[in-house]
Amino acid sequence: MDNLLDIAFPDSIDREIEELHRQSIELRQSLARTGTGKRRDRERLETLERKIALTDRLIAEYSQLGARMAIDGQLPEHLAESRRLEQLERRGESRELAIDPAKLQWFRRRLKAWFRENRRDFPWRETKDPYHILIAEMFLTRTRAENVTPVYIAFLEKYPTVVDLANAPVESIEKAIAPLGLDFRASQLHRSAARLVGTYGGEIPDRAEELMTLPGVGRYTTNAVLATAFGQRAPVLDTNVVRILERFFGLEGRGEKSRDHYLWDAAEAIAPKRNLKEWNWTLIDFGALVCTPNPRCSVCPLQKNCDFYRKGRENPPRNG
Ligand code: SF4
Repeated sequence: MDNLLDIAFPDSIDREIEELHRQSIELRQSLARTGTGKRRDRERLETLERKIALTDRLIAEYSQLGARMAIDGQLPEHLAESRRLEQLERRGESRELAIDPAKLQWFRRRLKAWFRENRRDFPWRETKDPYHILIAEMFLTRTRAENVTPVYIAFLEKYPTVVDLANAPVESIEKAIAPLGLDFRASQLHRSAARLVGTYGGEIPDRAEELMTLPGVGRYTTNAVLATAFGQRAPVLDTNVVRILERFFGLEGRGEKSRDHYLWDAAEAIAPKRNLKEWNWTLIDFGALVCTPNPRCSVCPLQKNCDFYRKGRENPPRNG
């Protein structure tokens, strides 16, 4: 069922509307700079905003249909075809996922002990409110966690509920998240809130199929929300986790690695049965503090059994 979720809502449509929003933000900023602006620009802005409203409506209808069908296990013909192609591609993959159970057990034990001593505290780790957690996760993709804290606190003071966010003008949401440099997120947040209010009565759904129909919410954010807010067994995979999997277990991702099915399967395979909330935080913190892009192997508790470290010792870089 997981793969079905990936295609319940095509990313291309979301990217298209993000591009429209980007253009309209640019135009509005340029009109604000030049006073009333040129007539041609104002007309272009009106056309863009009409297009955005129309695309938004189509997306909402499509999402509801996609979510219903994903839940019922039925798919429209073109989606069923892409599912079939994806399965063929997966069968053709020669990458076998072989993880030594003893090594895995050791890895979990070591990491859990490390986390007890080194966990980072953030305000979104203190709450169980699914709306707060969703907002934090939407901010955290592509941003350093330390930079998110003040914006997250101020944002929730300004928009304490989904309804407040849905009723806010996109421009004020843009301003609220400006320090994060994520302009494109403003329209996603606004459209997600509108859909949550319109379709789910302002509640955050606890089903992956439904969460993934929200604009800007992919598999990572979905699983982070399911694990943290609803206690479900939903592992995450981001660039931090990719690094750990590839280095420690010697796995090799392909393409856009945080979307690679093989690595997602690996993230599933290494996850413990329970308490995925803490497990996900453990991997995220470990990737941010120890197994960083420039890894700190000398202080790493996983060094003894790490493939990357062993290979580095067997083949030390040559000088000259
Ligand atoms: S030994 Fe180095 S590469 Fe291996 S997990 Fe630790 S920090 Fe990462």
